[in-house]
Amino acid sequence: MTDPIATSQTILVVGGGISGITAALEAAECGKEVVLVERSATLGGRTALLYRYFPKMCHPTCGLEINLRRLKGNRHVRVITMAEVLSIEGTRGAYTAKLKISPRYINDNCTACGECEKAVAGEVPDPFNYGLGKTKVAHLPHAMAYPQRYVLDPSAIGTADADKAREACKYGAVDLEMGAETVEIIVGAVVWATGWKPYDAAKIQPYGYGRFPNVITSVEFERLADPAGPTGGKILRPGDGKEAKNIAFIQCAGSRDENHLRHCSRICCMASLKQTQYVREAYGETGKSTIYYIDIRAIDRFEDFYQMVQKDATVSFVKSKVANIVENQENGNPILHGVDTEGYHRYATEHDLVVLAVGMEPEITGVKLPDDIILDSSNFIEGSKDGGMFGAGAAASPLDVNRSVQSATAASLHAIQVIHRSASTEAA
Ligand SMILES: Cc1cc2nc3c(=O)[nH]c(=O)nc-3n(C[C@H](O)[C@H](O)[C@H](O)COP(=O)(O)OP(=O)(O)OC[C@H]3O[C@@H](n4cnc5c(N)ncnc54)[C@H](O)[C@@H]3O)c2cc1C
Ligand code: SF4
Ligand code: SF4
Repeated sequence: MTDPIATSQTILVVGGGISGITAALEAAECGKEVVLVERSATLGGRTALLYRYFPKMCHPTCGLEINLRRLKGNRHVRVITMAEVLSIEGTRGAYTAKLKISPRYINDNCTACGECEKAVAGEVPDPFNYGLGKTKVAHLPHAMAYPQRYVLDPSAIGTADADKAREACKYGAVDLEMGAETVEIIVGAVVWATGWKPYDAAKIQPYGYGRFPNVITSVEFERLADPAGPTGGKILRPGDGKEAKNIAFIQCAGSRDENHLRHCSRICCMASLKQTQYVREAYGETGKSTIYYIDIRAIDRFEDFYQMVQKDATVSFVKSKVANIVENQENGNPILHGVDTEGYHRYATEHDLVVLAVGMEPEITGVKLPDDIILDSSNFIEGSKDGGMFGAGAAASPLDVNRSVQSATAASLHAIQVIHRSASTEAA
């Protein structure tokens, strides 16, 4: 069915991370109608999965909270979670977007009281913790989730847990009959804010990710350091639960490499510099971080942060592309092999834990996009041939949060211009 709420004067924003939320709000605060479509059960995107933000080291909840407050107070944005765009047809000013909305099995009556979670027994890998921990089949995606509504995992349907969840709910919010819906909406312009995903570290075979439990990725490390994460904020290595005090960070893991991602992911140097401070926070002077790098890319004002970390006695830098990792069979420690290009000597250095600073890949890699979309050589979205669709934030380039917000604001302005132009053409 075609949804009557959206019209050619509506802007469709695909992806509800910080960029999508920003693009939607900027347009809505100019009085434009916006449909914001998010694939998962909550807005926030990958920013909500960080422990702290560089350069100020504040918690992502601050930025998210302000934006969610703006969103709640704005009647021009219609948020649809658990929805994906199946296709977009038409041209600038008059697109038809087909959306598939997956069932949440929990309706608007949900008060997030948590009783269904207590009633069920089944667990699934927790996407909020990149699968490092588990969550109940009935769960709130995370504390700041928007909407503040529980979700029942599809794996529970048809099991005793589904019935237990329904019986536990006093508000009639558990709806096991809910099915997938397909909706068509007419929109005038589209902002693609579909973000990024971490490069699959298992493809970097010499580093042993997936084979050696004490080799993890930078996104997983964010969750280990976070008190809301699977270890309650303790930096415990997955192999044996031992405290990891001597940590290696390997830069350009999958980026700037013809065999993997050709581009520089731009933020992973800053992410590792930031993460050394998680180690300091956890262990003070007894922690030890070593960054193995080709060159450190800390642009603009981030240079100050880099200099601050360089002065930290718990952090050392080894200029080297690590060649390979082997595991010490006795204690499970990863041993890094390579050549230090400053002294030209070979090393075989043992650490408690290795963190791979994995690259940022566009989330839409592998997704069927409208034919009109223009991608760059790394699959980031540049725009569309007809000038009615725009990339925003990490969907357009590997960007930090601040630059993602700037990019989303620009994309929103372009979308508003498209709507204005089509309105003037219709009026003429
Ligand atoms: C290890 C690491 C640490 C970082 N630390 C920092 C930091 O400290 N400070 C900082 O500024 N930046 C940091 N970043 C970068 C930060 O994560 C990004 O800038 C930010 O996530 C970009 O936001 P976004 O909204 O563009 O994309 P995302 O956060 O990826 O959000 C995209 C959203 O779109 C949704 N989506 C995807 N595809 C679809 C689809 N087909 N249909 C509907 N919805 C879809 C996703 O579910 C998601 O909610 C870090 C990155 C890494 C790798
Ligand atoms: S579905 Fe019902 S029981 Fe579960 S959190 Fe929502 S209101 Fe509470
Ligand atoms: S930001 Fe740093 S770690 Fe990331 S790809 Fe660029 S140089 Fe490598």
